[in-house]
Amino acid sequence: MDSPPPRRRSGCLVPVLLLAALAVAAAVAVPSLRRPLYLAELASLAPPDTLPVPVAGVTPPQLADTWGAPRSNGRTHEGIDIFADRGTPVVSATEGVVLGVGTNSLGGNVVRVMGPGREVHYYAHLDAHADELADGQRVMAGDTLGTVGTSGNAAGTPPHLHYGIYRAGGAVNPYPRLAP
Ligand SMILES: [Zn+2]
Repeated sequence: MDSPPPRRRSGCLVPVLLLAALAVAAAVAVPSLRRPLYLAELASLAPPDTLPVPVAGVTPPQLADTWGAPRSNGRTHEGIDIFADRGTPVVSATEGVVLGVGTNSLGGNVVRVMGPGREVHYYAHLDAHADELADGQRVMAGDTLGTVGTSGNAAGTPPHLHYGIYRAGGAVNPYPRLAP
């Protein structure tokens, strides 16, 4: 449906328009057909200048900028830690497509969301993923992704969300956009 059908000798536009209408109808009816269109649309959008705090009930004045702070094994902190009670909902900061619902050794239970402008939003140390959250799912800003916890290398720390934003060139600091 990306390329127009070959031009017919008759020159009649009706079949072309009919095919186009069918393609649109199919894309609306079948989410899996819509996804590539939506990803292209997302990529064409500018990354948002400001972002809502992605933990329910936490306000910008409660945040601290710990970007670049030293971490274990010579790493530096590539994100922000947002502290809240265990079980507090973690919500998507942007609209987007879920790229990964999974687990890794540092992040524990994590969710990655492809947002506007090809930025990947990374939510880590979740206590649990949201029920039925799945790769490829479309989310809106404010949709619940999981809950605040201490999974991964956050074991033994106060419960918090580690929130990171990645662009093609690497990680960028979320803080200035969360607390403008
Ligand atoms: Zn962190």
